[in-house]
Amino acid sequence: MNFCHSIPETFRTRFQAREGVIMEVLQNAILERGQVVGEDILKVDTFLNHQLDVSLLNDIGKEFKRRYADEKITKILTIEASGIAIAIIAAQYFNVPVVFAKKVASKNLDENTYETNVFSFTKAKTYKVRVSKKFIDETDRVLVLDDFLAQGKAALGLRDIVLQAGAELAGIGIVIEKGFQEGGSVLRNQGIRVDSLAIINSFENGRPVFK
Ligand code: 5GP
Repeated sequence: MNFCHSIPETFRTRFQAREGVIMEVLQNAILERGQVVGEDILKVDTFLNHQLDVSLLNDIGKEFKRRYADEKITKILTIEASGIAIAIIAAQYFNVPVVFAKKVASKNLDENTYETNVFSFTKAKTYKVRVSKKFIDETDRVLVLDDFLAQGKAALGLRDIVLQAGAELAGIGIVIEKGFQEGGSVLRNQGIRVDSLAIINSFENGRPVFK
């Protein structure tokens, strides 16, 4: 938001209007193309998790850039698989590399890795994620991006990798936060900057209700 203070009123108003439009487009996509599954899962495979709406992703990428314009980001870190599309499209605006944490060990992966355990909310199991030490170090200022924030385990795992690398965490950008789960408050209570583009307060009669 500091960004807004240094630009004239007319531009500021225009940027704020644009922010509102992106939020509205994303909320409409969630309402019209998302599907609530059970008590606490939102399925968005129509635009974010399987089929990808590139135009919407592009607006999401621009919005993360707008929010972190003053932050001198050097790397974007995400987790495979769904975070990759968001990270790549945003990275074009930051002009920095994307690094994604890998869930599967392979012969292709360097042995020298940062590793951390992440409990998966959707799969209900813990798995190890790895990032080669070649790709993040103490000179980096990292923006973590992911599709969803639920219990915060993926975000905390990625932050752990940033800390192991001795790098700085600028913030965590999330496309959809489920505000009724604890992840957002767990992260914010630790002083971590969290920017969620849509925050769902509850599911009522099978429909998301936004903050
Ligand atoms: P957390 O680690 O915050 O508990 O969960 C975040 C991760 O779990 C995200 O990377 C996302 O892939 C997945 N996830 C959590 N909740 C949902 C959900 O409601 N819908 C979808 N599609 N993915 C979710």
